[in-house]
Amino acid sequence: MAVLILGEVFGYGKEFGVYFEGNRIREVGPAGDLLARYPTARRLRVERITPGIADAHAHPLFYGAEKKRLSLAGLTDPREVAARVAAYPEPGWVMGGGFLFDRCPDRALLDAAGRGRPVYLKSRDLHAAWANEAALKAAGLSPEDPWVDWEAGWVVERALARLEAVAPRPGSEDLWRGLWAFARRGYTAVHALAYEPPEALSWAEARAGELPVRLWWALPRGSWRGVRPGWRGERLFVGGVKFFADGALGPATAWMHTPYQGGGKGTPVDPLEEIEAEGREALAAGFTLAVHAIGTRAVAGVLSLFKRLPRLPGRPLRIEHLQHLRDEDALLLSQEGVVASMQPVHLAEDAELVRRRLPGREHEAFRFATVARYLPLAFGSDAPVAEPDLIASLREATRHRLSPEESLGFEAALLAHTRGAALAAGWEDYGRIAPGAWADLGFFEDGRLVARVFDGVLEDVEA
Ligand SMILES: [Zn+2]
Repeated sequence: MAVLILGEVFGYGKEFGVYFEGNRIREVGPAGDLLARYPTARRLRVERITPGIADAHAHPLFYGAEKKRLSLAGLTDPREVAARVAAYPEPGWVMGGGFLFDRCPDRALLDAAGRGRPVYLKSRDLHAAWANEAALKAAGLSPEDPWVDWEAGWVVERALARLEAVAPRPGSEDLWRGLWAFARRGYTAVHALAYEPPEALSWAEARAGELPVRLWWALPRGSWRGVRPGWRGERLFVGGVKFFADGALGPATAWMHTPYQGGGKGTPVDPLEEIEAEGREALAAGFTLAVHAIGTRAVAGVLSLFKRLPRLPGRPLRIEHLQHLRDEDALLLSQEGVVASMQPVHLAEDAELVRRRLPGREHEAFRFATVARYLPLAFGSDAPVAEPDLIASLREATRHRLSPEESLGFEAALLAHTRGAALAAGWEDYGRIAPGAWADLGFFEDGRLVARVFDGVLEDVEA
């Protein structure tokens, strides 16, 4: 189908137009010119037209699994929880959590609500669970077990592992649910950063032509040998191998130069020498590298390592998170062929954590403006760690909670969700509005993403 979209075109200006046929952009120009040239094209007018929106760091399998779980946050009465379970429509195990009971529950309530399905619900503190008879029996638990109150269906501490062992692992349907959730939010591209088990790739490959987003895939280290890098059709690209240089800020395992308040400097996870050795092999096999680095020491170590590594043409090395950076390490950013994949939306939760754990070093956290002086930025959400909320991401990037001087302008922040992400993927024809580029687009009205064009097809964003 031939479509002409008119409005403010990102990178061009107001009263421009984008003309596309099928899934490729054919022409971009002043609205008047295109109207004269394509009088029979279907016409649409929107406020702002951008390249397709990408989430450059996500875990769609776990995001999908999370979406399926019953959210019981705020509930204190077992009868309310049981009512939610009874109303939950899907077959199979019913899983969820977030409640905190103010009285002892009764297993019979949950047996009835489960209607034959095993039910396993974790308490908000994660140290206890409410389970029905079907779940307790599946886990091999019995009334004699010391960590189980059989009549209540209450399971604590060590018996929880028995339930975990038999509860279903995230599977193919969770991956699809997660990817569709991105599509309905208006995203056209998602980068899956390998918390996913290696077999998850085959779930995407099995129906690659039906993927609801263009998917960039990284495999976990140690599991890429024998896999062919590159496109599977036009929607799935197997592009990288993921390494972890350190842990995270929450548990104080991000690897720092100086100690956290309360002690400890965090810890390396994959030692840098191992990342280098396996990374060189992966690069020789045609995979780029995506290396998780959050603490200052991990970030400096990975950037120094990148200086020594070769690059694949047009396929930059990726540093994931790059969350804490010292002034004296900023010059390590000055190198070609690297993209910084960051998650501004984490600032909403992490700002307080940074103040508490790293007092006096707030200026080292989430340095968007500093990094952008040297490297292209690619923005993501790390879903399910945070919801992939584009507007929240842009807000956090443009109004930095810890260091206003590290804020980006709106255009630069949007660029990181479009062209920057495409550069991180190594997709030359993506994330830009130009003749020959993919016709994956985002439409904005009143500062909100209201529709997307994916593979040439217009779809509304669900409110
Ligand atoms: Zn992640």
